[in-house]
Amino acid sequence: AKELGKNNCQFYAHEMNATLEEKLALMDGLRKAVGAGQLRLVYQPKVDLETGRVFGVEALVRWQHPERGLVRPDVFIPLAEESGTIVAIGEWVLREACRQARRWQEDGLAPISVSVNVSPRQFDDRRLVTRVSEALAESGLDARWLELEVTESLIMRDVQQAVDKMRELEAMGIALSIDDFGTGYSSLAALKSFPISRLKIDKSFVRDLAHSADDQAIARAIISLSHQLQMRVIAEGVETEQQRAFLAQYGCDEMQGYLFSKPVPADDIGTMLARRPLA
Ligand code: C2E
Ligand code: CA
Ligand code: CA
Ligand code: CA
Repeated sequence: AKELGKNNCQFYAHEMNATLEEKLALMDGLRKAVGAGQLRLVYQPKVDLETGRVFGVEALVRWQHPERGLVRPDVFIPLAEESGTIVAIGEWVLREACRQARRWQEDGLAPISVSVNVSPRQFDDRRLVTRVSEALAESGLDARWLELEVTESLIMRDVQQAVDKMRELEAMGIALSIDDFGTGYSSLAALKSFPISRLKIDKSFVRDLAHSADDQAIARAIISLSHQLQMRVIAEGVETEQQRAFLAQYGCDEMQGYLFSKPVPADDIGTMLARRPLA
């Protein structure tokens, strides 16, 4: 038993080393990724249920690694957050998303909003507000077409600090939304004091919507809460017609998910905008 225990220990130690090594290699690669032009943005349409139109897109980052191929953001965003590289990545995403949104307008397409995800470390960065105004000025994009998605846990860590920063951004004309709503611990009282225009129902509540009475209750509660607080509400991860029907029935305003479109390159969005409604 002792021998086995020892072997097990070595086994785990080996696994941990491999993981750590890989983690460090990825972190190192990430540091260079921005400068090396290895990051790409894809865009996922957000559909207005009433009009069926694409009123906005969410920018989602991809890392085209020279040897590993496409690395998912679920893998590298947490590493970038840990190492601090997220600040540089976030700035690149912001500038590129604003530039692209402006480009669609210049192509004569109806203006849509572009949403950018902001991670905790990026949100805490002193230069965030400056970087946002630089990205707008440089691209010529009007602030009303930019939305920042922040998570519930991010804003609840230090409510006063988050309120102050969000008010600064709001004063510039930028929209703010809460991502993954329902997965963190929001103080409902605090929620009132944030200049938020939209709550996004996390896809974990959408997945089993057709079969789970609990998820149905949660989705309805979030929709009702949003409307009580004069906010719009969007559901993410909508994959089936059944999920769409439930959400529509509960009064959800907007949706995003594979049912409408996967995240796609900018050119495909251009084609889509020039075409018929999605829903
Ligand atoms: P998120 O902000 O919650 O983004 C939604 C994720 O759900 C995206 O994954 C999207 O591709 C995926 N998705 C969209 N529709 C569906 C659907 O119908 N079904 C399912 N199962 N999934 C769907 P993605 O692109 O892999 O991004 C993962 C996460 O990485 C994002 O979650 C976000 O937290 C983070 N992320 C992505 N881009 C950025 C970025 O530029 N900056 C920061 N800070 N984080 C980012
Ligand atoms: Ca998001
Ligand atoms: Ca989300
Ligand atoms: Ca999520």
